Amino acid sequence: MIPINDLKRHNAEIGPVLSEAVDRVVSSGWYLLGEECAAFENKFASYCGVEHAVGVGNGTDALEISLRALGISETSRVATVANAGYYSSTAISAIGAEPVYIDVDRHDHLMNLDLLESELASGTIDAIIVTHLYGLMHDVEKVMAIARPAGARVLEDCAQAHGAVLNGNRAGSVGDAAAFSFFPTKNLGAIGDGGAVVSSDPLVAERTRHLRQYGWERKYHVCERGGRNSRLDEIQAAVLNCKLDLLDKWNSRRRRIAKIYSEGIEHENVVTPPLRGDEWTAHLYVVKCADRERLADHLRQSGIATDIHYPVPDHLQVVCENSKPSHDLPVTEELAGLVLTLPCFPEMTDAEIRRVVDTVNGHS
Ligand SMILES: *Cc1c(COP(=O)(O)O)cnc(C)c1O
Repeated sequence: MIPINDLKRHNAEIGPVLSEAVDRVVSSGWYLLGEECAAFENKFASYCGVEHAVGVGNGTDALEISLRALGISETSRVATVANAGYYSSTAISAIGAEPVYIDVDRHDHLMNLDLLESELASGTIDAIIVTHLYGLMHDVEKVMAIARPAGARVLEDCAQAHGAVLNGNRAGSVGDAAAFSFFPTKNLGAIGDGGAVVSSDPLVAERTRHLRQYGWERKYHVCERGGRNSRLDEIQAAVLNCKLDLLDKWNSRRRRIAKIYSEGIEHENVVTPPLRGDEWTAHLYVVKCADRERLADHLRQSGIATDIHYPVPDHLQVVCENSKPSHDLPVTEELAGLVLTLPCFPEMTDAEIRRVVDTVNGHS
């Protein structure tokens, strides 16, 4: 079976390095927010091209805590998309703020900025979460240009976009702040949960440091409301520190696989994503197919796994039954019925890549 992801293969490649890092932490006697975390924060901040990185427990906490650090509260309205797995909705509802769903573009699946601009004209949006879906970096410079005059803060959701570069800027370096996840299957993944907030705004970074640990300014002195416990542990930080050196190499391999797919797949019912440059990390390779259940069946029977990212738009989740979104989301809803994810991970062999192409092309 060709899986969607194979973390055994992924981590085996650097097994000895990871074991050494884990052993070092175990024998250090210090397990949370220590030297490993500080070292990773420095290295990750300079990799992203920002002043500050703050390690937290996971990507969803990174979204929630950075929203709070940007001043978002239960009276705020936050613009976001409804096609990105409910993560931003989880963070917004944890604060008690209101999500305002903006429809997406049918070609790149990213927030439609014309629709965002008309929403901003209402003057009631306090923040915008820009999700770089499937690892494709959105035009955050343009988002900043329309958000600034409207007084809205901009948070990038970079959980799928570690290392993407658009117009010379890394994902995470253009908005007011950015949230990263290091869930094991992400392009930069830990061997457990992990996350980070990055920002060049010292106030946002400082507030994030307080909020990730009970709102403490220093031990047992609480200076910030809305604090909680969301720390990056030392084992994850040590692992991430090693793996960050290989991120660009892994991203290139993912882009290479995506290129072979987009050039090789030719089927009248299958729409492949266009070729992209460094602005895409190829986190997920997603095709559109009108009869995707049949295509998925055909692939499964040939030993190829697929997945759907994401089957249910946020506003159609059962928990949203009683809240109607402020806008219709026709493109979001249409795409949710068409998308199908093919295996795309750096350790795929050339033979496996070829087999995926040939099997898709052989779909009847
Ligand atoms: C994975 C992911 C998250 C959440 O990260 P966790 O570490 O699982 O909490 C948020 N946003 C997007 C787009 C993601 O893909």
